Amino acid sequence: MNFNGIDFDTYFKHYPDENGFFGKYGGAYISDDLKQAMAEITEAYFTICKSSKFISELRGIRRDFQGRPTPISYLERLSGKLGNVQLYVKREDLNHSGAHKLNHCMGEALLAKYMGKKKVIAETGAGQHGVALATAAAYFGLECDIYMGSVDIKKQAPNVARMKILGANVVEVTHGLATLKEAVDAAFAAYANEYKDAIYCIGSVLGPHPFPMMVRDFQSVVGIEAREQFVGMTGELPDAVVACVGGGSNAAGMFAGFLNDPVDLYGVEPLGKGPKLGDHAASLKYGTEGIMHGFNSIMLKDENGEPAPVYSVASGLDYPSSGPEHAFLRDLGRVKYDVVDDEETIDAFFTLSRTEGIIPAIESAHAVAYGMKLAKQMGKGSVLINLSGRGDKDMDYVLQNYGIR
Ligand SMILES: *Cc1c(COP(=O)(O)O)cnc(C)c1O
Repeated sequence: MNFNGIDFDTYFKHYPDENGFFGKYGGAYISDDLKQAMAEITEAYFTICKSSKFISELRGIRRDFQGRPTPISYLERLSGKLGNVQLYVKREDLNHSGAHKLNHCMGEALLAKYMGKKKVIAETGAGQHGVALATAAAYFGLECDIYMGSVDIKKQAPNVARMKILGANVVEVTHGLATLKEAVDAAFAAYANEYKDAIYCIGSVLGPHPFPMMVRDFQSVVGIEAREQFVGMTGELPDAVVACVGGGSNAAGMFAGFLNDPVDLYGVEPLGKGPKLGDHAASLKYGTEGIMHGFNSIMLKDENGEPAPVYSVASGLDYPSSGPEHAFLRDLGRVKYDVVDDEETIDAFFTLSRTEGIIPAIESAHAVAYGMKLAKQMGKGSVLINLSGRGDKDMDYVLQNYGIR
């Protein structure tokens, strides 16, 4: 399919280019030491991802350990309530450990094993990436250092407990505001010292090349499965596909299955409390071009041009930028990026739970809220929503802050 001058039949061959660019976005803006480490990872990835041994091992892990393929569920009661549009969800909440993040963590850890590394390193904010990586490290018998700000350690006690039980070393970062940004800096610094024995595992389609590409490729299993399942269930493609966007990994994986199809794609960002800077984390909607954490993309900046403070009711979505490929697909017009706020999200959280017996992660509830709005606008057709994770982690928070609805 040709779209605005881009041939999507060969899209994955050309994007990113060999330097990690999706148009002007992406790249690797890092120190020479780290450049060398990234070059080593890129080379290993290109060799290994063509190896049938690696591919069949990853397939086996997905089937026997992660529980893939995850199903698609038809939301009969919710569809009936909204009108004539048929709603479906891809059940990444049923992936082992309860979200899509394990898809790329198992891939990254398997790559570490093939490269002969002994350790995986990462930072975590809310702890979701840390838990997924700790799970993968335990599976492969790798050491695992997770850098986390002291403020987040206090806030996210259950995830800290999970990481420790899984054998990970949770390294407390105490400087500055002691949250995600400081944890990223500390993890990068540690990696610069340890890259001979360790590999850095980024938690989304972010960071320097090759991570936006690798994480997308590992997540593309979601979209490839979903396309085949949807056609199998209905005999057709969905009219629209919806996914939430923080860094953008679950969306990138889902969209990868449909980029070359006549299907409308929607990425949903968190509008939080409103459009004022600091009240949301909708970088693609309100941000401008800039470089952070080693890549060029669209980002929210403060008055000094530094990454701005962001807010979302979903801690997995509050990042001041999004992956470079999303910035590219936005400019191209291939994917439409839009927002829903906290209130709409909490409503969708309860609606999906009550109507279908599925408690979504608050991140995923953003996509559900948008899918419901879209269904009302469309009037007919079908919408496939990526349900990136389950909501067990969010139940206490929702009840304390919003009560039962
Ligand atoms: C982390 C997380 C997200 C956001 O990450 P993306 O990289 O944007 O997909 C979304 N949903 C869940 C359940 C998460 O844990």
